[in-house]
Amino acid sequence: MNIAIDCERLASTFVQLCEIDSPSRREKGVSDFLRQSFGDLGATRIVEDTSAPRTGSDCGNLIVSIPGNKAGREPIFFACHMDTVEPGCGVKVLRDGDIFTSHGDTVLGSDDKSGIAALIELIRILREDKTEHGPIELVFTTCEEIGLLGAKALDCTLLTAQFGYALDSTGIDRIIIGAPAANKLKIEVHGIAAHAGLHPEQGISALCLTAKAIADLRMGRLDEDSTSNLGLIYGGVATNIIPDSVTIEGEVRSHSLQKLAAHTAEIERTFQQVIECWPLPPSLAHAALGHPCPSPRLPDKGNENEAPAPAPSVTITVQLEYPAMHLNLTDPVLARVKQAEMILGRTLEFQVAGGGSDANILNSFGLPTAIIATGMNKVHTTDECLDLRDLTRLTELLYAIVVA
Ligand SMILES: [Zn+2]
Repeated sequence: MNIAIDCERLASTFVQLCEIDSPSRREKGVSDFLRQSFGDLGATRIVEDTSAPRTGSDCGNLIVSIPGNKAGREPIFFACHMDTVEPGCGVKVLRDGDIFTSHGDTVLGSDDKSGIAALIELIRILREDKTEHGPIELVFTTCEEIGLLGAKALDCTLLTAQFGYALDSTGIDRIIIGAPAANKLKIEVHGIAAHAGLHPEQGISALCLTAKAIADLRMGRLDEDSTSNLGLIYGGVATNIIPDSVTIEGEVRSHSLQKLAAHTAEIERTFQQVIECWPLPPSLAHAALGHPCPSPRLPDKGNENEAPAPAPSVTITVQLEYPAMHLNLTDPVLARVKQAEMILGRTLEFQVAGGGSDANILNSFGLPTAIIATGMNKVHTTDECLDLRDLTRLTELLYAIVVA
């Protein structure tokens, strides 16, 4: 198949996009660029949804409709996110042959502007070569990098396509067909403050409670489907005060919802057990009765009207960050990719990934969405890079999917 991609035009679009600042919640510059670009390319409808107040972004998600020119072909959608991670402002793109990088002080922004640039080139060549295709809808989300906020607030009624593709993964010629669900955890450990030099025996260090619980926990890869991580910790006031409050934030991911629940419960139980078995300061220990642990801590809950005794405790908040996604190779969304693979005479890898992205959310809306790798590499670092040859390969694949 001869696909008339203009590589230099594609490169120039990509560089232009990367050099527009678009940290999460400030995507309007990119949104305006896309309105202009797709307006010039014959989009019949360009609408922004009303998600901005919920995401806190300076614009909503943008939905662009490109009409088909062949009757009876089903519509499909492509999705990209407009935001980039920090440091991502003031990007100056360096080009060495076919390789794009930043100057080293920012990310490049190929996550996810590689996908956006490929879509602009795709619509341009479809318009130029007048190939027959069905309706195409383009979804550009905000705030992907800070919790998939744009996708979560997307107004799906603006879409007519029943399935589509999110262009947002590293490498090339890879299709992501499964991704885990994730729980986000916030664990607030409460101890008892005391002067560290004068009355250390009166305190319980929330930091020590936390350290013991973490030491008792399994972390990292938990089984073939699941991982966990505690990534943030903060608390304490001063070196001479026994800290009465430490907060940890972390996550559990799993391709199995059952395992997700079990691993999350294990973390909760571990913290609770450490708290329950922690020796109380002598001033409180006399009140502790009938406790199952060798070093009893608290009296029973007692009269609810009484003020609660100061004692160690833990408050754990669990939030489903995103649901799992799982596609079958026979689903129409993947059947079309298999056809494209044949058209191009190319071998694609169909893989299960460990990350969460807008596609998890779109799938949960009942819109089967496969993730297509865009050629982006070393994302979320200042070493991020993209090879123009990969960007061209991506554009060829999108074209083949559209005409398949
Ligand atoms: Zn991304």
